[in-house]
Amino acid sequence: AIPAIAAMASSRRVIVGHTIVAIALACAVAIVVAHGFAAALVSCTVSATVIWLPVLMIGALRRSLVLTQARYRELAHTDPLTNLPNRRGFLDRIERYHRTSTVSSAQVGFLMIDVDHFKSINDRFGHAVGDEVLKRLANLGSTTLRKGDLFGRLGGEEFLAILPSASAETAAHIGERLRRECEELDWPKIAKLDGVTISLGVAMCQFGYDETSLLHAADTALYESKRSGRNRLTIADRDGSIEKAAKLISASRR
Ligand code: GH3
Ligand code: MG
Ligand code: MG
Repeated sequence: AIPAIAAMASSRRVIVGHTIVAIALACAVAIVVAHGFAAALVSCTVSATVIWLPVLMIGALRRSLVLTQARYRELAHTDPLTNLPNRRGFLDRIERYHRTSTVSSAQVGFLMIDVDHFKSINDRFGHAVGDEVLKRLANLGSTTLRKGDLFGRLGGEEFLAILPSASAETAAHIGERLRRECEELDWPKIAKLDGVTISLGVAMCQFGYDETSLLHAADTALYESKRSGRNRLTIADRDGSIEKAAKLISASRR
């Protein structure tokens, strides 16, 4: 039973406590039934060893299993190209953030970002250059966003930022800065490109608002940015309502 306790997710205190009690009982029995000191000593040593050795081995196995699981989880949640959280990792972080954050009434901004005419970049310059563009954008996002913001790659050439405690103005301001900095990056030097632009959609919510609707609202706002000419930012209605989403507020294009 003791190795079984060690194999379960029992605390160290429970395992050590049970192991000590089992060894003490085994030694007591060994002392009672043994004839002479030497026999009692040998019996105690054997009894103790057959208890602690499996506990030790199973404990070590369990630890390595937990580490391997954590490593696989990390890999499954990370985009290998940009090293950012992928969609799964991102949704997991949002969920964890909602669970642990104490700022229950704060505003949260969703910022959806999509590279303009990315397919044409791949077609004209090759997939490797497309990948390089994605890496540069990931880097730009990571350096431009604030500490505490979440940034991830949703898939393809689409990124998402979550801005906790951001007003609509702050979210739009940060998004607009990203858009401008992307436009101003030295793209010709990086990858023989004439330029790369991004379109953005912003959706705001009261904290705890359902992510699916917010993603939808941000996506609709992004679609409006695309529809109205690209290289711009559109913000959905303050309440995140999907019908009213994608109201173009941005005169962001310079
Ligand atoms: P729009 O301005 O409307 O967003 O047009 P777009 O060309 O950016 O969008 P579209 O959805 O037509 O094309 C996206 C392309 O992104 C198609 C796909 O081959 C490419 N893509 C997706 N994932 C990767 C990747 O990891 N690396 C590279 N290089 N390309 C990718
Ligand atoms: Mg695109
Ligand atoms: Mg896209």
